[in-house]
Amino acid sequence: MITATAAKIVWLLGIVGWFVIRYPFQRRARLLGVARSTGGIGDRVALFIAAVGQFIVPALYVAVSLGAWRPLPGDYSFHPVQGWLGVVVLVAALVLFRATHKQLGRNWSVTLETRTEHKLVTDGVYAWVRHPMYTSFLLSAIAQALLLPNWIAGPAGLVGFAVLFFYRAGREEALMMDAFGDGYRDFMRRTARIVPWVY
Ligand code: SAH
Repeated sequence: MITATAAKIVWLLGIVGWFVIRYPFQRRARLLGVARSTGGIGDRVALFIAAVGQFIVPALYVAVSLGAWRPLPGDYSFHPVQGWLGVVVLVAALVLFRATHKQLGRNWSVTLETRTEHKLVTDGVYAWVRHPMYTSFLLSAIAQALLLPNWIAGPAGLVGFAVLFFYRAGREEALMMDAFGDGYRDFMRRTARIVPWVY
């Protein structure tokens, strides 16, 4: 059995896991040189909107709902099957999130930029899709919708993800084509964006 309360706590643990995975890369990234940057204010706004949907709204919801003694607006009754599915999808999201950080290593940036000694990564999970880190964001947004039984806090992550992804994907691909030319164009021809073989 998994209760709504347990599912909310699982979601919180997922957030902790997310920061534990990212922190060492974030720390190291500050010290690395930037070659090209296209991540202006628009990219920062898109990142902020994603953070509101995938972190701020659900975190506030979990905090308030765990202390509330009656349902909040938008709450619906929780089905254990959605809880178990949410756990599976969340674990998959974190495993993939870690794999993409390990593979990108020094080539990772929070915004759109290439490094002075940037290497194009095309193997491992990057052989399946060209934006596997965004696949992991999508999986964690799906996990959020499954784990939080609320019509606002649950789907908010999918909205935040969609804003960031559709703002970014084309711009990131243009930046990578600029930096790697045919190397990246070939990689694009071989791979889907975020769902293997589909999209
Ligand atoms: N879109 C990728 C990476 C996200 S991090 C993913 O979803 O996995 C964003 C940074 O990664 C960008 O600034 C870009 O410079 C870098 N990047 C994107 N794809 C890359 C690749 N295949 N190899 C190396 N760096 C890449």
